[in-house]
Amino acid sequence: MELPDFIEFAPFNKMREDMGTRELGYFELFDPALHLTGEERSALANGGVLNKLDNVKTLPDNTLAIKNSRMLLYIPDENWFRQRREYPTYHVARCSLLDELYKESPDQEYLVTTRLAQDYDMLKYRDGGEYSLASVGFVVCKHCLHKLRYKDFDEFRNRKRGYSQKVLNEFKLEDFYRLYKQYPLSFGGRQEQ
Ligand SMILES: [Zn+2]
Repeated sequence: MELPDFIEFAPFNKMREDMGTRELGYFELFDPALHLTGEERSALANGGVLNKLDNVKTLPDNTLAIKNSRMLLYIPDENWFRQRREYPTYHVARCSLLDELYKESPDQEYLVTTRLAQDYDMLKYRDGGEYSLASVGFVVCKHCLHKLRYKDFDEFRNRKRGYSQKVLNEFKLEDFYRLYKQYPLSFGGRQEQ
């Protein structure tokens, strides 16, 4: 018996059309080395997980990923930011600052999360010398926006300072993940960027 050529097979093409896909189907088998398990996904989406930069993937477009999901990361220690007199920031790309921090202390642990929020959990230093967990307001790292040239953001060009400041002020993770798909990324036949 001769099988029909499925690429020319009218009923299948009709079905593809109805589904709104012009391309042929593409399947990727589950591989725990590449794909997050359900458990890992919920850990990342709830508080997040601690990880060193060595365990974080930098995608070809410089955004950050754990297995097949983009995510953000930050140092979950308020005192660290306090000592540097900086507002808490999270990173969405392998920026110049992350490169520097990696050189300084490659074993530094970061909190990695896929959660979309304005406040994230971190250790908060209290005057008694004790730490407690607290939800703290964060902003996106401007070096990350520069690295990605996010919406044409430029950290160094004076002429664009006003515009870049506006991009920074109006940054929303919802917009970011609309531009850079969060999940699932595909590493098979097609490279997801
Ligand atoms: Zn950054």
